[in-house]
This record gives sequence, C-alpha cells and structure tokens, in this order.
Amino acid sequence: KRGLDKLKNNLKGKANELLSRTFDQHVTLAVTGLSRSGKTAFITSLVNQLINEGNGTKLSFFDPVHNGTFIAAKRVPQKHFHVPRFDYDAAISALTAEQPNWPEPTHGISELRLSIRYQPKSSILKYATDMATLTLDITDYPGEWLLDLPMLKQTYQQWSQQTYDLMTRAPRAELSKSFLAKLALIDPLASASEELLGELAQEYTALLYTFRYDLGLSVIQPGRFILPGELAGAPILEFFPFPALASIDGNAYQNAPDDSFVGMLRSRYLEYKEQVVRKFYREHFLRFDRQIVLADCLTPLNKGRESFADLELAMSMILQSYSYGKSGLFSRLFSPKIDKLLFCATKADHVTPEQHAPMVALLNQLIHQNKHHISYEAVQIKTLAIAAVKATTSGVSKYKGADIPVIQGQRLAQREGKGATEVFGQKITVFPGAVPNQLPQENYWRSNTFNFIAFAPLSDLTKHQCLPHIRMDQVLQFLLADKMI
Ligand code: GDP
Repeated sequence: KRGLDKLKNNLKGKANELLSRTFDQHVTLAVTGLSRSGKTAFITSLVNQLINEGNGTKLSFFDPVHNGTFIAAKRVPQKHFHVPRFDYDAAISALTAEQPNWPEPTHGISELRLSIRYQPKSSILKYATDMATLTLDITDYPGEWLLDLPMLKQTYQQWSQQTYDLMTRAPRAELSKSFLAKLALIDPLASASEELLGELAQEYTALLYTFRYDLGLSVIQPGRFILPGELAGAPILEFFPFPALASIDGNAYQNAPDDSFVGMLRSRYLEYKEQVVRKFYREHFLRFDRQIVLADCLTPLNKGRESFADLELAMSMILQSYSYGKSGLFSRLFSPKIDKLLFCATKADHVTPEQHAPMVALLNQLIHQNKHHISYEAVQIKTLAIAAVKATTSGVSKYKGADIPVIQGQRLAQREGKGATEVFGQKITVFPGAVPNQLPQENYWRSNTFNFIAFAPLSDLTKHQCLPHIRMDQVLQFLLADKMI
C-alpha cells in the first residue's frame, strides 16, 4: 500500500511537473532608448525589485505582489550564450557602494533571464499546479540601432543627400564645415585610398559623438557608429555620406568602379544595411514580445530648442520600427509579434511630483504625432513617468511667504575634463522648473529655463533591499501581471 501511494504521489508529481511545464509562461521583454536615457538603471531596478520582492518594497500597483500570489524571482542562465550578459552584479554594486555611483551605461546588446514563481489563481493553471513559473528574458539594446531602420529604404545616394541636408543646417552646420570641405576636395570617381577613407570615417564618427554628447542631439546616423557593440573597429563601420553625388552624372555614378571612392562607400553602405541593420532586426527584434522605450525628455528641455527638436525627429524614426502593417517594406520585413509597447519618460525624480503629469503629456505628444505609424489594433500602448532609481526626495519650501514644491538631492560630481567645479555630495534643494505639457513653442524657449541637475544615487542603499523608485510597480503591472494570473 505504501509503495502504491508512493507511486501515486510520484506520478502526481510528474503530472504536475509536466502540466506546469506545458503551461509555463514566457515573455521576451526588450528595453531600449537613446544613450543615457536610463536603460541600465531601469533594468537594474527592475531585476532588483523582482528578486527582492517583499524586502521593504512598495509594489502596491503590481497585482501579484499586492494579492500575495508572487512567490519569488531568481536569476537563471540566459537563453543565448553568444549574447553578452547584462551585468547586474556590477550595476547593483555601483549603486550600493559606500560612495554610490551610477552603473556603466549600455554599450551594446545584452541579456538577462529571470525565473519568476507565482501561485496561479484564476487561470486554468490553478487546477493543475499550485506553483507556476514565468520566464522573463530581458534584452537591452541601444535605441540608436533603431534609428538606422529608415536606411533600409534608402539608396546610398538618398541617404547621403538627407544626411548632407542635416549637416548643412543649424545646429550641425558649424561643426560639419571642415569635414565637408575635405570631402569637397575628393573626386568621387577616382580610385580610393583606404587609408583616407578610414581617416574620414573616423572624423565623421567623431562628429557624431560631438552631435550627441556636446550638442545633445538625438538623430545620429548610422547609430552603430557611436555604439558599435562588438563591431568596434570593423571596416563595415567605415563609411560616411558623400554630398556631391547629386552633381555627378547618374550613369557615371551607377557605373562607378568598386575601387573608386564612391564605389567603395556605396558597397560598405549596402553591406552595413544587410549585415548590421537587417541582421539585428532578423535575429533580435523579431523575437521580442514586449517592448519598453525609455526617453529622457528632461535633458533636451534643458539643452534647448534644437536639442528638443532633434529628439522629436529621433522619436519618429524610432517609432517607424513599430509601424508594421502599413508599409509594404516593413510588413515584409517584420511579422508583428510585439503585443505591448510601454513608453516611459525617465528620471522623473528630477522634477517635483506635480510635474509628472505634464511629463507624461509631453511624451504622449511626442508619440502621438506619429500615431499613424503604429497599428493600434495589434499593440497595447501605455505611457508613464518613472524613476528607476530615485535619487531625490520631494517636499515643500517657503519662498517669499508662499509654499513651493522642491526636490532635494546630492549633486553628482562633474566628470573630469568638463570643468570640475562641482563638489561631490553637495546637498541642494531646488525647484528645477516646469515641464511643458505639450510640445514647447517659441514662447516657452523665450521665457522658461529648465534646470536639470545630475544627482548622485542616494547613499544608504543596500543590495538586498529594493531600490527606491517611482512607478516601477506600474511598469511591472503593465508588462507582466497578465502573464501571472
Ligand atoms: P543608458 O545609456 O540608457 O544605459 O543610461 P543609464 O541607465 O546609464 O543612465 C544614464 C544616466 O542617467 C545615469 O548615469 C544617471 O545619471 C541618470 N539616471 C538614469 N536613471 C535615473 C533615475 O531613475 N533617476 C535619476 N536621478 N537619474 C537617473
């Protein structure tokens, strides 16, 4: 009898295991955004919230935690061994160090897998098992890579023309002058010197870095040039736009030999489109179930009109990646799989709480300008203002007898070489300014100054406690809760 019971139990165990394996859920979550939009901080916080659930955390808007059906989450080996691992340990160590610091930002693609255990309550799983697993694959990749999508539709000539147009207008024109002057001296049909080509490509790349980090611009093409990932130094990244193409004879251009300047640039451009851009879409993008796009709208507001206008353009280029269905090319390239798309305005702890609603409104405007791009029937969309790692506290201060909202935090030391005038750890209390609730017009730029201050992470964080955050629970609710019922 005991033997029989044991057998029965064994069988039941096996059946449960089999059933739960059959019903186990799986989500591939992609995290993107332009450089410094907060991807690393976001993934670190998301993983931290899940693996430390119940440890001093407030995830009130995440149903599985709120309803007590969440059991535990742990890191497990990722799916693709050829993709670098997201370095959670290094990131959390930086944030929780004695002198806390922000983790190293995203350089390329990386992955991390979590296994989340929960008690199924309402789905069919409830009858089969009292514990189910949701496997969450998180992929981090630079938003710059999405900026390249429009290149797939363009010939080298078209792309050169468009890039040239940007480079001859403010705010890029001044900085581009000397590079363009060098190109003007080159005969595009003459046979090319690889050395010169390499040098010019380097100069073009340096220009892109300056556009991004000194001018605060967002439209950087090709996006890989500033975030090459594993392609750093590869000749496939050695090309640049050639402006004078419109002036050469169409036939001569078509027949330009492969070893001529323009022939070489053209073939590298084509190779780049195939081997880099299309390959990324095929190998990664097509596999994502859910996507979160992070946008830092505050830094461009701080940098001024041109920087903000460039963010608008970049957002519309990024959104093209989600515009399946409409255009023939994209629907042939991608069969839609993403069913949820979350847009987050990041670093919300940089403004006082009543500014969060305008932040969301502003981001909505950035997205909805491009509404026609996204097929709404297939994709559920949400917008939130978040702080993955909250670095300030908010309160009220008296100013000339009136109450004004303020935030308080510790200034981040300026990076070396950039006029290191700030003192690390200086505590400040400020009202950073108002966020416009729609795309800023001329009068906003005239009358408003937004004071974006970089803050250091709070100094009393520990590894096994949840990081302080704003609305990460709502992020989890939107992205995961429906898979955990
Ligand atoms: P990535 O390039 O998209 O990976 O960007 P990071 O995650 O490295 O973020 C860039 C910088 O933005 C960080 O070094 C922080 O200074 C800041 N940052 C990111 N997220 C937050 C946040 O939630 N709050 C605050 N105060 N700063 C943040």
